[in-house]
Amino acid sequence: MNHSFCSDDFSLKPYWWDNTPRPQSGDLALPGNTDVLVVGSGYTGLHCALQTTQAGRHTTVIDAEDLGWGCSTRNGGQISGEIKPDYEELSRRYGSAEAHALIAEARTALEWLGDFVDQQQIDCDYQRCGRFVAAHSPRQFDKLVARVRRQTPGLEQSMRIVEPRDQATEIDSSYYHGGMVIDAHCSLDPAKYHDGLLRLARAGGAEIIGHCAATQIERSADGFRVSTSRGSIEARELVIATNGYSGALAPWQQRRVIPIGSYMLATEPMSLERAAKLMPRSRVFSDTRKIVVYFRLSPDGRSLLFGGRVSVFESDPVKSLPALRQEMLRIFPQLEDVRISHTWMGFVAYTFDELPHLGQKDGIYYAMGYCGSGICLASYLGNRLGLQLLGRQEAGSAFDKARFQTRPLYSGKPWFLAPSVRYYQLLDRFS
Ligand SMILES: Cc1cc2nc3c(=O)[nH]c(=O)nc-3n(C[C@H](O)[C@H](O)[C@H](O)COP(=O)(O)OP(=O)(O)OC[C@H]3O[C@@H](n4cnc5c(N)ncnc54)[C@H](O)[C@@H]3O)c2cc1C
Repeated sequence: MNHSFCSDDFSLKPYWWDNTPRPQSGDLALPGNTDVLVVGSGYTGLHCALQTTQAGRHTTVIDAEDLGWGCSTRNGGQISGEIKPDYEELSRRYGSAEAHALIAEARTALEWLGDFVDQQQIDCDYQRCGRFVAAHSPRQFDKLVARVRRQTPGLEQSMRIVEPRDQATEIDSSYYHGGMVIDAHCSLDPAKYHDGLLRLARAGGAEIIGHCAATQIERSADGFRVSTSRGSIEARELVIATNGYSGALAPWQQRRVIPIGSYMLATEPMSLERAAKLMPRSRVFSDTRKIVVYFRLSPDGRSLLFGGRVSVFESDPVKSLPALRQEMLRIFPQLEDVRISHTWMGFVAYTFDELPHLGQKDGIYYAMGYCGSGICLASYLGNRLGLQLLGRQEAGSAFDKARFQTRPLYSGKPWFLAPSVRYYQLLDRFS
């Protein structure tokens, strides 16, 4: 690595993989048939598999790469239980009852995840730390004030404003103009969480096989015949859990998700005192920009983990690192002398209505499109999807009601992304 600001042991792997290297899936052979085949071994796929194995269905999970290689071990570890559109927008689209149901279910998902981690005793540094939403302009601060004052009746949550003059209690930066704390938001170590899910799914009897790319789906007398890079498999039920990595295997789903790269860096470890001074309450942080940045301290409290999108086009994380670091330094100029130890990226999946979707199309089950909030929503909707596949009464979800939209001529390659990013960057500058 040529950059002088990179540490000697600089790595292009996600920070989390240092403590939780990608697990070996061994030489497990692909079985000839299975009750349920799940494509994708992230949170969606594993939560779905946990349900189907528990119900006694022989379940096989495959991943084209190492297990958990996708976003589920690359993310920022910030847990929100929020969806992008607000109550007013959702009411306009679907009416107030549906708007209420969608937001309430996302909040339920957050509680559900906390309970799940507790009950299953998953060791993943889960912290109920709260979030600081930092206002990038005085106008955005006023909007946060209005949001806290006018919470939708029945959907209130514990939120409070932090005035600009009190901002230092949350962040050692003069970049922002005050902000808002949301108490319910949490943090975890995403790779440890994924590792816990893997153990549970394996203990439940799921066969989980890495380096096995599904390449073609055909209908068969009993369900599906799926060709893979390691032979073919007959499956009664098929689940697509590929989110931002959805490819030509399932074109209907591919045409409905927009893969967007999100980029992260980690600083080399600092002293505990120095790191704690940056964010004295150790919350997770995001800001009010459309092209949002997000950051937090690592679970050991020594490194800053900073993420966002700095390039208009998708980029090599090494190429975008200087700009990402510059963004970090705009907020924390005092980190000029701290070197960068890791940078990496991954593809999140957005949707045209900014809502996640789950359901069934031509007999194929899917859940995807978490719009950057997948720790909570991929886990919860993966669980719902498993229950739906089992035909369980309690499996209903507000997220399977809205039409999963695409756009004419869209085939899964978002040509419109670069102009949209440019447009939102401009909006952010003037909002
Ligand atoms: C840098 C970054 C930061 C993020 N930060 C946050 C955050 O702080 N909070 C939050 O809530 N969310 C965050 N996210 C998003 C979150 O991680 C995802 O929404 C979530 O992990 C999605 O889980 P998943 O199981 O649906 O998909 P993934 O974990 O992406 O798994 C999909 C898997 O499908 C596999 N696959 C694809 N095609 C095939 C095929 N044909 N055959 C076999 N396997 C296939 C891929 O190899 C991949 O492993 C972030 C994402 C990134 C990239």
